[in-house]
Amino acid sequence: MRATCATIHLDALRSNLAQLRGHAPGARVMAVVKADGYGHGLERVARALAAADAFGVASIADGLRLRAAGTHQRIVVLSGPDEPGDLAELRRLRLDAVIHHEAQLDLLAADTDPRPLRVWLKLDSGMHRLGFPAARAREVHARLRALPGVDPDIVLMTHFANSDVFDDAMTARQIECFRAATAGLGGATSLANSAAILGWPAAHGDWLRAGGALYGMSVVEGRNGVDFGLHPAMTLTTRLVAINRVHKGESIGYAASWQAPQDMDIGVAAIGYGDGYPRSARAGTPVLLGGRRAQLVGRVSMDLITIDLRDHADARVGDPVVLWGQGLAVEEVAAHAGTIAYELTCGVTRRVLFAEDDRAA
Ligand SMILES: *Cc1c(COP(=O)(O)O)cnc(C)c1O
Repeated sequence: MRATCATIHLDALRSNLAQLRGHAPGARVMAVVKADGYGHGLERVARALAAADAFGVASIADGLRLRAAGTHQRIVVLSGPDEPGDLAELRRLRLDAVIHHEAQLDLLAADTDPRPLRVWLKLDSGMHRLGFPAARAREVHARLRALPGVDPDIVLMTHFANSDVFDDAMTARQIECFRAATAGLGGATSLANSAAILGWPAAHGDWLRAGGALYGMSVVEGRNGVDFGLHPAMTLTTRLVAINRVHKGESIGYAASWQAPQDMDIGVAAIGYGDGYPRSARAGTPVLLGGRRAQLVGRVSMDLITIDLRDHADARVGDPVVLWGQGLAVEEVAAHAGTIAYELTCGVTRRVLFAEDDRAA
């Protein structure tokens, strides 16, 4: 049996939510659970985060999954409706819709159902991805307010491009742009993603939108979630399936990219890019063996990785290997693979066994 397992620490999720609330007392928290709860499991995360005030999803289909699982909080579809049939589905499932584009205004204007739909008006304050130009805030807000099928309690929102740099002038400009564009419109505001919750108090507003930090991850360059008092919500583990002696000058794995500098033992562990362990992880990427660090050598293959055992003479076939999580920050592994922690947790594949751990973090 393959021993590759992602353990989800439910108490870490709960404790991270409480920690984030402490940064912005009085604000409500939307737990962002897109991409299957950043790879941790949508329903599982929603169940653990029952104390969240709302959930943010990427699609109506995910909203349906959450309602089917018994989620009673507000659920916000972050990209809103795409076609007329979506409006009926949003109402049936009591989902809130982000409205970010003219085409969606047209859908709403053509809609004859008078049951009020809750909307979040998304403004572009400088990221230039989704959102109406901030300069149009007043006009679009007035158009939405005039529609009988739209709940008049509209939340005003925007998203930051670079809030993980805590002294960046761009975020300060985005906050100012949003404030100026929405002044006097009334209604709740929502600006802050995880990095802004941690580093931009001026952007807290009424609704926080917390993603990565809930899962214990930091997006701040060179800092890990634990540096902010967050706990990792996923630990990815496997086992050693072989230990082999190689001689000085012999190469390890595909492309023979790594040569043994001396006679040494190589551990082979049952995980690879087929499980979502990044193929781009370089030689030197850390893993934990018996609670101590060891280093990857050679290429990551589909099912296997190879590990330098020179400092682990006591290692035995069957020993557990931690790839990331408790004791080894996923941010650090991501840095060795030239990516961010989010991509790693989102990328864990279906063949990995998921387990839940409910002990205190
Ligand atoms: C994904 C997302 C978030 C959460 O971002 P994190 O950096 O993970 O906290 C917040 N708002 C929107 C609109 C998002 O798409």
